[in-house]
Amino acid sequence: MRQDELDSLCVRTDATLREALKQLDDTGLGILLLFDGAGRFRRTVTDGDIRRLMLGEIGIDETLEALPEQAPIVLKRPFTRREALTIMQEEVVNHLPVVDDGGNLIDLVDRASVDRQILLSTPHMGDTELEYVEEAFRTNWIAPLGPNVNDFEQELAAKVGIKHAVALSSGTAAIHLALRLLDVGPGDVVLCSTLTFIASVNPILYQGAEPILIDSEPRSWNMSPAALERALDSLRRQNRVPKAAIVVSLYGQSADMTPILELCDAYGVPVIEDAAESLGASYKGTPSGTLGRIGVYSFNGNKIITTSGGGALVSNDRALTDRARFLATQARDPAPHYQHSTMGYNYRMSNILAGVGRGQLKVLERRVAARRAVFAAYQNGLGDLDWIRFQPEPNWSSTTRWLTAGVVHGNGSRRSAAGLISHLSANFIEARPVWKPMHLQPLLQSCTYVTDGNGSVSDGLFADGFCLPSSSSISADDLQRVIEAVREYGSMAG
Ligand SMILES: *Cc1c(COP(=O)(O)O)cnc(C)c1O
Repeated sequence: MRQDELDSLCVRTDATLREALKQLDDTGLGILLLFDGAGRFRRTVTDGDIRRLMLGEIGIDETLEALPEQAPIVLKRPFTRREALTIMQEEVVNHLPVVDDGGNLIDLVDRASVDRQILLSTPHMGDTELEYVEEAFRTNWIAPLGPNVNDFEQELAAKVGIKHAVALSSGTAAIHLALRLLDVGPGDVVLCSTLTFIASVNPILYQGAEPILIDSEPRSWNMSPAALERALDSLRRQNRVPKAAIVVSLYGQSADMTPILELCDAYGVPVIEDAAESLGASYKGTPSGTLGRIGVYSFNGNKIITTSGGGALVSNDRALTDRARFLATQARDPAPHYQHSTMGYNYRMSNILAGVGRGQLKVLERRVAARRAVFAAYQNGLGDLDWIRFQPEPNWSSTTRWLTAGVVHGNGSRRSAAGLISHLSANFIEARPVWKPMHLQPLLQSCTYVTDGNGSVSDGLFADGFCLPSSSSISADDLQRVIEAVREYGSMAG
């Protein structure tokens, strides 16, 4: 609370009940802070306290001296928001004074502002989404496909500079279709970045194929070309050629695509770019998601733009995207009588959601700029701390900073990523660990995991990694709150 606001709530014991009631009325918070003649903070005063005095026959022109002595319920710094809220709930009060060790009042916190969560990554609508959705309602294009879907596909393709896009029900569906398009089946192996969300790998299992998990490199946190080469080499010695490589670009940062594509080319492995987290990013000037044979985007609710749920598959190869559309609509043969020769899926995006997507595409650049500004604020507010290092942005790329991610360097202190995340959580700030690598997942225990031979990079990123709230709509005040909470943790655990 600002000092002038705080001053306006102060009242002295020689004030009359009438004066106190007027002050309560003027300030409107329902609470005053009572000081004695020596300027010592005594207790809080509410409407209810004064009403009780008057019911007890104390006249309105008598002074607050009549209030009973009462040890004030106060907070002492440092306290977490969770602690403050718990006391408020137990004591059934909406305000708590904050005092220093000498009992001097330094702040007053209120319940509504204490009990406010800062979320990791929230949807952020633009101005036109509703117009496209309304258009769909007006024309009754509610049913699965429709003009918004076609337009969304064209607008998405144009935005990332690729020839064809297919709008789907999720990013996971897009990865699954990509594997079907590349004919992945039982007995095949598919290479995949280990440091990712499970959705990159599950579709490999849907197809009954075997994932081989590839470690990260420290420069981008994404697939290590050296580890990839070792995996390809080792498979070649077993006379095996992977059917595909799923290369993930994490948190808005592109993988180092040139060496990865060269290696995959040399070994005859088609690349699926899982750009679910990196729409709007680029690699050497080329949009992320358009460098492989097939690219995948996600429009899930927490991604940089969203259709509430959705995804897309993109490619320059028309035959692939035509087939993706076919498989995504139950693989219906061109016959009037519902004939099917191959197994398909119900994976298309609805016309309503594509309307949301069209509006979101219009603001993509602004969302990227906003997320990068969030990172800049963190860099600015935390860059001097020697125990934090953010995910690097190598000069061959432009990241969206979909999430501001970093690692904690304990350096013999008690600081850890887990400690930081739990301190932020106690202050109602949603921070998250870095993805738990796939080779550490119980589900994938039996999978082969390949590093560059010098120890596991992704294990370290998982152990020490954190993601900070990064919504494009986050306010400057909330950013400041996160920065202060991180710094507070640093001093507490230093
Ligand atoms: C979100 C995400 C997906 C899956 O997208 P959905 O639309 O949620 O199915 C795939 N890969 C990565 C890396 C993701 O972050």
